[in-house]
Amino acid sequence: MGTWNMVPPDEYAPLHPDEKRIVESLKLGIELGMTLIDTSAMYGGGRAEQLVGQAIKGARDRVFIATKVEPSYYSFEGILIAAQESCRRLGTDYIDLYQFHWPSMVAPIKELMKAMERLVDDGIVRFIGVSNFSKDELIQAQNVMSKYPVVSNQVRYNILSREIEGELLPYAEQEGVTIIAYSPFAVGAIFGYQGPERETLEQLADQYNKSIAQICLNWLISKKSVITIPKAVKPEHIRENAEASDWRMSPESYKAIDRAFAFS
Ligand code: NAP
Repeated sequence: MGTWNMVPPDEYAPLHPDEKRIVESLKLGIELGMTLIDTSAMYGGGRAEQLVGQAIKGARDRVFIATKVEPSYYSFEGILIAAQESCRRLGTDYIDLYQFHWPSMVAPIKELMKAMERLVDDGIVRFIGVSNFSKDELIQAQNVMSKYPVVSNQVRYNILSREIEGELLPYAEQEGVTIIAYSPFAVGAIFGYQGPERETLEQLADQYNKSIAQICLNWLISKKSVITIPKAVKPEHIRENAEASDWRMSPESYKAIDRAFAFS
C-alpha cells in the first residue's frame, strides 16, 4: 500500500477524522494481506509515517515497512539522523526497506551508500533501496556498495507510463533488483482515461470478472521483478486492490494490454 497524498502537510496531533479513516484503511489492508507499506519522511512532512505507525501498532512483525530519506538529509551523518527520526515517527526500532527518495544532486553516492550500510550494520535497516534512479544511477549505486546489495528501485510504472521497459526493467530483471511500481493507477488518471485502448481493459475485466483496477495491478505484478504499491483510502478500493493478486490472466491477455497501450 502507498501513502502519498493522504495527509495535509500541516496537520498535527490530535488525529483529524480524515486521518483516522486513513489509519483504519491501512489496518484493513494489513488484515487483507497487503502487508508491505510504502511511505516517506517527505509525505505530509513526516505525518504519513506517524499514521503508518498508528496502523501497525500490534502488527509490527506482520508488516514490511518501506520508507525513504528526503534529499535535505543527504550526507553520511544526515542519513543516520533521518533514519532515527523515521523510526520515531513510525513507532518502530527498525525499517525493513530504506530508500533514497531521489538521486543525489550534491552528496557523492559513495558517502550516502556507506551510511546505508552502517544502518544495516547497526540493525536499524534490513534492506537498502533507491527510488527514481535511472539504470545508470542504479549501477553507480551498486558499484559503491561493499557489503550489501541494492535490493529495489521504486519508479513510476503503469499502463500509461512504460518508459522503464526500455532499459531499467530488463536490467533489474537480469540483476534481481525488485522494481517497486509507484502510481500504478497514474494517481487515479487511469479511471478517467477515455482513449480507444480502454476497450481492451474493459474486455479483459469482463472476461476475468475483475475490475479495471485489478486488471491494471495484475498486469504489473505479472512481470518478473515487479511489485506495486497502490494508494487507497476508500475501504472498497482497499478490498478491491487486495484481490488483485493470487490469479493470472493468459499470456495472450497480458500481451493484449502491452499492444493496446503503446510503450511510451
Ligand atoms: P495511485 O496508487 O496510482 O492512485 C491513487 C488513486 O487511485 C487514489 O485517488 C485512489 O482513491 C484511487 N484508487 C485506488 N484504488 C482504487 C480502485 N480499486 N478503484 C478506483 N480507484 C482507486 O497513486 P499514487 O499515490 O501516486 O501511487 C501509489 C504510491 O506510490 C504512493 O502513495 C506512494 O507511496 C508511492 N509514490 C512514490 C513516488 C516516489 O517518488 N517514490 C511518487 C509517487 C508515488 P482513494 O484514495 O479515494 O481510495
